[in-house]
Formats: sequence, structure tokens, C-alpha cells
Amino acid sequence: MLHSFDKRRRLAILLAVLSVVALVLVGRWLNATKVGGQQPVEPFRIAGNFYYVGANDVAAFLITGPEGHVVLDGGYPSTAPMIMASIAKLGFDIKDVKVLLNSEPHPDHGGGLTMLQKASGAQLWASEASADSLASGGDDPDIILPLRALIWIGILGYPPARVDHRFKDGDTIRVGPIALTAHVTAGHTRGCTSWSFSVRDGDRVLNVVSVCDLGVHATSRYPEQDADRERSVRVLRGLAVDIWVTNHARMWDRYRKFVASTTAKNPVDPFIDPEGYRAFIDAAEAELRQGRVH
Ligand SMILES: [Zn+2]
Repeated sequence: MLHSFDKRRRLAILLAVLSVVALVLVGRWLNATKVGGQQPVEPFRIAGNFYYVGANDVAAFLITGPEGHVVLDGGYPSTAPMIMASIAKLGFDIKDVKVLLNSEPHPDHGGGLTMLQKASGAQLWASEASADSLASGGDDPDIILPLRALIWIGILGYPPARVDHRFKDGDTIRVGPIALTAHVTAGHTRGCTSWSFSVRDGDRVLNVVSVCDLGVHATSRYPEQDADRERSVRVLRGLAVDIWVTNHARMWDRYRKFVASTTAKNPVDPFIDPEGYRAFIDAAEAELRQGRVH
């Protein structure tokens, strides 16, 4: 009797401690991913056929073409309806979205893909390392256990997405004349994907890079992470860039550039920012050298 009571009490204490740890970690996670970055904002053209359709911070992009469109990232599950409203507001039809892409499968970028997929019927392409996570609704063996448990029970997870195709580093995904090249720039997660593509705007052809986050969360670690980040920094330094973005809009100054574009002689010019791109990679490299973790 006494023995089993003790056992139960120990289990209860263990569960209580684990819950507190989990709550602290969720708080840190939400803060790090800025769950507050989901205010609706006006969608807008960045350049040519390249549009912003995300929330104030959690980013999503639309690349349009005559044979179908591409959407990059789905935000949280609760961001997806905003993304769809933004696509409609720009005058495009969600049903014409043929391809869905992802930067990384954490809930703030992979969470809304399932809803976008259901609404559009689009094919989802993912890197080998991101595919399993997207298909499982956000599970990832690199996420530490208390948080992983919250994904399993549905608090941090999202509806599983149907991954139609897995690409390799350097592959190009095409929809008619649209062509995006995948660069697996691992570090934040193993399958973190940066995308490079060109956009025609008037008589200019501009090089666009969507950089996957290079920062590391204490809640998402793996042994080869620093070596991967070294390689990713090298790869990203080698890309030609006129316009750059990331999956969190605050990191590439979306708002400042958008406001500047409304009064600029050419509204595209404020988005041309190769210096900002280099500064972003310099900062990521400095974080790596200092061993800084978020
Ligand atoms: Zn992330």
C-alpha cells in the first residue's frame, strides 16, 4: 500500500516538474518565434511577379505565373486564412496556386501549409530533412523532449501536410516560367531551405534570395549543427542578391521598405538591399562564432 502510494507521489512530482519545465520552454519558444507577429497587414508587390502575403512578422510570399503560382511558407495554422485573404486581395485565385514551398517546418512556417494545400490542391515540395516533420505535423527528433511532447499532444503541432515531392540541395522547382532553386542551408533545422530565383521587373531582372533562418534555438539542437551553419554561411555568401527576404519580416525590414516604397520614384528600389543581406549573414556568422543561442 505504502509502497504504491510513494510511487504515485513520485510520479505526480515528476509530472509537475516536467509541466513547469514545459511551460517555461513554451514561453521561450513563443517569444523566440514571436507568436505575436500574426497581425494582418496589407499584401503588396515587392517586384514584378513577387508579392508579400504574410502577416506583420510571420512571412509568406506569392510568386505568380501564367501556368500557376507558387506560395512560400504557410505561417501558423491561424496565419493561413490571412494568407488566403491576401492572395484574394491582390486579385489572384488560391486555386491557381500549384506549388507550395517551405523554409523550415517549425509551427510558425509549416503550420498553415495543410490549410493552403486543402484550399488550392497545390503540390507540396520539401527537403528530405523537412519532409518527415511536415508530414507528421511538426514532430522533429531534434526538438527537446518536453516541447516534443507538446507537439505530440497537439498543443504545438499542426495538421500534418501531404508532402508530394522531396527535393535535393540544388534542385530547381518549376511552374511554367517560374523557377526557384533550393539551397539546403541547414542549421536552424536540418532541412532549412533558402530559395533563389529571378524576377523580371520592367526592363530589369532582379535576383531574389529567401534566406532560411541561421539562428539556433536552445530547444532545437543536433550534433552537426555548427558545421552545417558554417557551410550555410559559405553557400549564402556565394549567391547573387538584389532583393532578400526571410521568414520573419522584421529581420529584413519589411515595414520600413514597404513604407519607403509607397513614396519612392520606383517602388521596387527600397527592396533592393544587397548590403542588408550581407549584414544579415555577417550577424549570423558572428552568432555562430560567439556560440550564441536563442
Ligand atoms: Zn524555426
